[in-house]
Amino acid sequence: MEDRSVHIKSFGCQMNKLDAGLVASALRDAGFRLTDGVKDADAVVINTCSVRQHAEDRVLSNLGHLKHLKQHRPGLVVAVIGCMAQRLGGTLLEHEAVDIVCGPAQIPQLADLITEAIGRHEKHLAVTEKIRFPGADDAALDDFESTYSIRDKQIPGQAFVRVMRGCNYFCTYCVVPYVRGPEACRSPRAIIEQTRRLADAGVRQVTFLGQTVNSYKYDDGRKTHSLADLLDMATEVQGIEWIKFVTSYPRDEYYKDILLAMVDSPKVCRYLHMPAQSGSDRVLRAMNRHYTAGHYLEMLERARAIVPDIAVAGDFIVGFPGETEEDFQATVDLVRKARYRNCFVFKYSPRPGTAADKRLTDTIPDDVKQKRNVELLAVQKQISDELSRDFLGRDVTVLVEGLSKKSHVNPVEGEDRPQLMGRTSTDHIVVFNGPASLAGRFAQVHILRASPLTLFGELSV
Ligand code: SF4
Repeated sequence: MEDRSVHIKSFGCQMNKLDAGLVASALRDAGFRLTDGVKDADAVVINTCSVRQHAEDRVLSNLGHLKHLKQHRPGLVVAVIGCMAQRLGGTLLEHEAVDIVCGPAQIPQLADLITEAIGRHEKHLAVTEKIRFPGADDAALDDFESTYSIRDKQIPGQAFVRVMRGCNYFCTYCVVPYVRGPEACRSPRAIIEQTRRLADAGVRQVTFLGQTVNSYKYDDGRKTHSLADLLDMATEVQGIEWIKFVTSYPRDEYYKDILLAMVDSPKVCRYLHMPAQSGSDRVLRAMNRHYTAGHYLEMLERARAIVPDIAVAGDFIVGFPGETEEDFQATVDLVRKARYRNCFVFKYSPRPGTAADKRLTDTIPDDVKQKRNVELLAVQKQISDELSRDFLGRDVTVLVEGLSKKSHVNPVEGEDRPQLMGRTSTDHIVVFNGPASLAGRFAQVHILRASPLTLFGELSV
């Protein structure tokens, strides 16, 4: 077969990382060689994200470079996939650098589209026109997902399994419902079959993915299955030791059953990623979030009553239109009370087409957003630091991911084994020295030192 090569560049969330892995496996399967850079590639795939303006700006700047490159290499094929492809569709295809625009529901067609485009100079648009009415593509996506997730080796011993697509919530700042469509849940049969095949291929941890994963609901005609049911079924899969799920929307329905699933099985990891977004009820209403700060904290309290050692992560947006200093201090207060293991803080950025962009003015100056971002992270850092210290002197089980990012700059004197990185079932990052062959396997690590985001230790067995 003719030697063809492709370079993939991915931006954005865990969903996008999953798509990038699936696309990489599918392209490999279609005979493409994956390259580390654009230099040696016949085609470039840019997997885009629309959640923040910054992510879209980075994609446009990449396309600017590719446009220059194509002046010398007109045969280079550029495909844009993901949320930005869906959002901008034909407009993006008009960009001089772009040959293919392919929406999230059309990625099973991508290898064929690139193969056709190489050698020809035709532009191609493949996006779902009516994103509010998906369904026709679901079977093809299911097959694509099941086939290629088995071959995706991004993290040894781990795999992500999408249990649902889309979102029904329409938070006023968020573009996801417009580009990924309404909630569409995969059948438990397809999900568990995929999990089984992953286990057979050596996977030990699966993470069930959904924008609002705790909304998972599938009626098979006999029963309506919830996320708690899925977790129960997954615990029966031989070889799977840990099951995680992200991201949870703060709501009561099904919530208790999910926590009970954690209590019932050590395989269901005691980790909850549950974004609050703000601690101000006024801002939460403006965001169209369906809870108050008090209700959110009550949910956390109940969670900790059922699973006392649960680790919780949160997300926040600072500088939402009209957010006063008082609103922001309410967020600081919520973070203090919630005692997250860690949280992700983002500065509000208006997204075209969303309700907030249409109805509200982006009133908060960037320096104020930046100041609030720094302040909130500092509060969280102190809490993370206190919680991390609880691990000192303890042995923890870690699923090893591979070499740590700093393995080359952080050598330990007298230590010839590389520095490895893994995570606990509560998603704590652990760094220690050990044989590289541990990647994808479980290890016991004795914790000697703790920083807010990382635990450092030594292999105990
Ligand atoms: S729950 Fe809100 S923030 Fe999350 S994906 Fe849906 S609309 Fe976006």
